Amino acid sequence: MHRERVSENVYWFQSEVYAQVTAGVVAGPQWAVVIDTLALPDETLAIREFIERELNVPVRYIINTHYHADHTWGNCFFPGATIIAHSMCRQLLEEKGIVSLESVRKQNQAFRQVKIVLPHMTFDQGELTLRVGKKNLILMPATGHSADGISVLVEEDRILFAGDAFMPIPYIVDGDIDEIAASIKRIGKMGLENIVQGHGDIILRGEIEAAVKENLAYLSAVRKAARTAAKRKGGVDYLDEVAIEDCGKSRVHLGGQSIALHQRNLRALYKNIIEKKDLSEETEGE
Ligand SMILES: [Zn+2]
Repeated sequence: MHRERVSENVYWFQSEVYAQVTAGVVAGPQWAVVIDTLALPDETLAIREFIERELNVPVRYIINTHYHADHTWGNCFFPGATIIAHSMCRQLLEEKGIVSLESVRKQNQAFRQVKIVLPHMTFDQGELTLRVGKKNLILMPATGHSADGISVLVEEDRILFAGDAFMPIPYIVDGDIDEIAASIKRIGKMGLENIVQGHGDIILRGEIEAAVKENLAYLSAVRKAARTAAKRKGGVDYLDEVAIEDCGKSRVHLGGQSIALHQRNLRALYKNIIEKKDLSEETEGE
């Protein structure tokens, strides 16, 4: 696991095991807030050990940016902490997370000790502010990767923990392409120092504009490719030929998982178009 200090009392962690998934910590004088947990128990426990031994504070709150396993299944390793999330995150963890953990447990010993802990404190509209030491954490919706997505802004530092609304390859299979495009645009206008992506590396101020453009161009390209496929006979086969590089992205991202994510994006969009029979050309405003 990589660890980096992003700003005073703000830390970032990145998995070396699963898809470069990230987590964050903001520490105050009495207690710390964890933003997402990592995919595997060992990595989440290493974060806890760092907070308790190096920062010398307990974890009082965990914020889940969305319900997916790689961000929430470590909740159980912080007994006594209050979990905060969007109300839909709680609902989806209850409806989907518990079932999915049961089946993963059968295949993988490492998850035997994992239990789903549902968020205790939720919000469903507007923003929620949490004060940690001298810093405000502002929780706000950031949908599109999933319907329950939120981002966390460290207001004083202009650091955004974006969750999976911002990734090296935007991933919309469980979400909505228009919503993620709107989230990416909004994030691009926030005047940030850093974007901490839900997966991948930290984006620095000078890189944000290009990253936003690249992600929006990628979304337009996959949408266009899915429409082209939908107009052809045997269109699904055509999708195999749409390389990730054709859509302006590199295959090196996300520990080698980028091609799989890209192909799943294409298939999800294709299925949507077929089901809605929506072949009209898109009218894309800015
Ligand atoms: Zn994720």
